[in-house]
Amino acid sequence: MEGCDVLVVGAGLSGAVAARAIAERGLRVMVVERRPFVGGLCHDAPGPEGVPLPDFGPHYFRAHRPEPVAFLGRFTEWRPVVFRVRVQREGVLWPFPIQLATFEQWIGRPSTSEEMERTLAIWRVPCEDPQDSESFVLSRVGWPFFRFFYEGYTRKQWGMEARDLLPSACGRVPIRTTREDRYLDAPFQAMPVEGYTAMVERMLRHPGIEVRRDSEGQEARREVPHRHLVWTGTPEEFFGERPDRLPRRSLRWEREVFQGRRVLEAPQINFPGPEPWTRWIETSQHHGSPGPVTTVIREYPQAFLPGREPLYAIPSRPAEQAFEAWRRRMEAAPGVTFLGRQALYRNLDMDQAVEMALEAVPAIEVAVLTEAGRLAP
Ligand SMILES: Cc1cc2nc3c(=O)[nH]c(=O)nc-3n(C[C@H](O)[C@H](O)[C@H](O)COP(=O)(O)OP(=O)(O)OC[C@H]3O[C@@H](n4cnc5c(N)ncnc54)[C@H](O)[C@@H]3O)c2cc1C
Repeated sequence: MEGCDVLVVGAGLSGAVAARAIAERGLRVMVVERRPFVGGLCHDAPGPEGVPLPDFGPHYFRAHRPEPVAFLGRFTEWRPVVFRVRVQREGVLWPFPIQLATFEQWIGRPSTSEEMERTLAIWRVPCEDPQDSESFVLSRVGWPFFRFFYEGYTRKQWGMEARDLLPSACGRVPIRTTREDRYLDAPFQAMPVEGYTAMVERMLRHPGIEVRRDSEGQEARREVPHRHLVWTGTPEEFFGERPDRLPRRSLRWEREVFQGRRVLEAPQINFPGPEPWTRWIETSQHHGSPGPVTTVIREYPQAFLPGREPLYAIPSRPAEQAFEAWRRRMEAAPGVTFLGRQALYRNLDMDQAVEMALEAVPAIEVAVLTEAGRLAP
């Protein structure tokens, strides 16, 4: 392909979904990805147990609306999964998210939702409109559970105190007084049977799409003629500036292979204590624990420095304010649509990334046709 209608920088979920939906409107798309593989943060590859293992942390697909499920379902079969998490402190496992069983373990005897509600009503620190994660959690469960389950984990995950983070940092995890044990509340929860990479590879297989791996977006912008650009990298890189101008958080992972089909009590164990890691993950449990070996992934939070993955936007007011200036610059940039976690500086879940990419496509088509003189400006 000499040139294209739309140049998409980044073959993560956002870029791949946009590319496919644009190509299905009859436009020619080129996708450039600096990594040797597609899938971005969702990338996975078969581990020694033969099931897909994540390269960038476990990815639990959940959806609140049918559109992302329907779109992705064209490129994968789903394995229905109930995502479960436990917390480990000083060698003891606890049900998590906080639920009736957590409360029962805390008080050391069977209880009821009513008793838990009554107790939380005493523990809660009232706050009508919490502006930070600490007051948010305190207003729901009070100090005992905040200290035990949230404080240390949040400090490790973000390198900051909960009181300096927006409510969304801790507010993503449900708090329940029932026996519901699922980690997530969304009505659709599943894993792609062959993994995310296979799903994205299939998505990008279309006569109107050319994919270039090991390719830099800035080079492609200069060298590949295009009528419109979709940028899913960081704003800093788009404007040719140092990659660490916005505050972010990163992670690293260690893998260990064990004999046996299953070694952890649950697919994910969270560690709010003094250990340097935040969670252990055994994703093969989501694929039926085929054995005869199993991989445990340990996740360590770390500062974001040049050369490390820009994994998370910091959910804090100063970080949001810092992004404002970039947002204004991005809005003023002609001929480009910014999409995805990095460009929008938002910790989007996969279903959100898919929805936002799909929603952006009609305007991208109009921009291309206008640029091509096929529509009045
Ligand atoms: C640790 C972790 C766990 C997560 N767990 C979940 C989960 O359980 N459930 C869930 O729904 N979501 C989860 N997410 C979020 C999920 O990963 C994203 O929503 C999804 O991957 C969409 O990402 P994206 O395409 O916007 O960005 P990315 O996946 O980051 O893709 C961007 C792509 O662009 C490429 N790129 C960037 N700049 C350039 C450039 N200049 N030139 C060429 N290529 C470039 C990158 O290499 C990358 O491949 C998690 C995220 C993280 C970090």
